[in-house]
Amino acid sequence: MKYDVIVIGGRVAGSTSSLFASKSDVDVLMIEKRQEIGTPVQCAEATSYGTLKTLEMEPSKKYICTEIFGAVINSPDGHKVRVNGERIQGYILERKMFDKALAIESAKFGTDIMVKTLVKDLIIKNGEVKGVVAKHLGETIEIKADMVIAADGVESSIARIAGLNTLNSPKDVFSCAQYEMVGVDVHPNYMELYFGSEIAPGGYLWIFPKGNGVANVGLGIRSSKETAYHYLKKFVSNLDATPVELNVGGVPISGPIDKTYTDGLIVVGDAAGQVDPITGAGIHTSAACGRIAGEVAAEAIKTEDTSSRFLKKYQDLWKAEIGENLKISLKYRKAIDKLSDKDLNVLIEFFQGKDIFSMESIPKISLFKLAKKQPNLLKNLKDVL
Ligand SMILES: Cc1cc2nc3c(=O)[nH]c(=O)nc-3n(C[C@H](O)[C@H](O)[C@H](O)COP(=O)(O)OP(=O)(O)OC[C@H]3O[C@@H](n4cnc5c(N)ncnc54)[C@H](O)[C@@H]3O)c2cc1C
Repeated sequence: MKYDVIVIGGRVAGSTSSLFASKSDVDVLMIEKRQEIGTPVQCAEATSYGTLKTLEMEPSKKYICTEIFGAVINSPDGHKVRVNGERIQGYILERKMFDKALAIESAKFGTDIMVKTLVKDLIIKNGEVKGVVAKHLGETIEIKADMVIAADGVESSIARIAGLNTLNSPKDVFSCAQYEMVGVDVHPNYMELYFGSEIAPGGYLWIFPKGNGVANVGLGIRSSKETAYHYLKKFVSNLDATPVELNVGGVPISGPIDKTYTDGLIVVGDAAGQVDPITGAGIHTSAACGRIAGEVAAEAIKTEDTSSRFLKKYQDLWKAEIGENLKISLKYRKAIDKLSDKDLNVLIEFFQGKDIFSMESIPKISLFKLAKKQPNLLKNLKDVL
């Protein structure tokens, strides 16, 4: 068996890479270790309006549960600020359906897919990745390829075999737990976010509406002796709602890894740390970088140059598209990390009742005036003001 490109991992980064490589007319095999694409879900399923545009997919009721217009941010002491959108800002997806629809789209353009197949090793010849060794239903198989895309999720073990450093320190990973629940009292088009050391230390808690009283209630935390599940159970004990699904998982929030390519291999999505460091959102970034990965891989095949010198183009392109945003987001996250519950209370109370149309529209001058009255807040926010 021989392919132009093998993609390891069949979720958003993998399917997007496969889709755009196949659209560019090269032979692609996508390998997924699970028996079904899209399960188990490890996601709160919120994504921006731009994701479907990046993927060239039409919005569909098959995988969109609700349209999102904004968010309500809750301070530790119960103040609320509403961030309003003037138009649709995004969607809450049904990721089981969305990930599968994306894989189906890729297959329609010619991608071959193997499920329940675990990639265990890479074939490396003269220092260049040239295929994979995988286990499929108890049988070990070798599949050759001109190059490989690693889209195997957080801390990619595959990219590490090729010599790239994909490890994160525990303080740079959101540890998450989430219930999908029935009977949740939440606005159908607004996400609810809760902050505070008693609710979600080092992170935040979310309630994302999926329609008809169904919602994802989950949280991500860092640096806590207790587990994310402990905080989740504590929060939901106050809700009159019942769970129908539990998911747990980790999200890398320290920004992208330094090098995302080597001879014969590209790494993409969570595997490359391409996640927004404030929110932990990785669907749109995985789609944007997956598209670039697939297109650059196809170009490498056509020009018969899969060397790291050529594949650097992938890193240059994704950095040009989302690199600056990720850098700014990391800077903001580091400033938010320093805020105490008291700082958050002051900040959110200050904006309560004011019209905020996007996070970017928060007037820095008002923030500055507020911070000047609160020396601690000024000190902690000085890098972003
Ligand atoms: C609880 C939680 C909530 C989240 N909520 C949101 C949200 O609301 N919005 C948002 O944008 N992002 C969210 N994220 C992040 C988002 O889910 C990820 O950024 C995104 O799914 C990354 O996609 P990916 O394809 O890079 O990796 P993954 O989704 O991790 O997919 C990797 C795939 O590779 C497969 N695989 C791994 N190793 C191998 C192997 N050796 N051989 C074959 N297959 C392999 C895995 O089975 C998996 O299917 C959340 C994450 C968590 C954990």
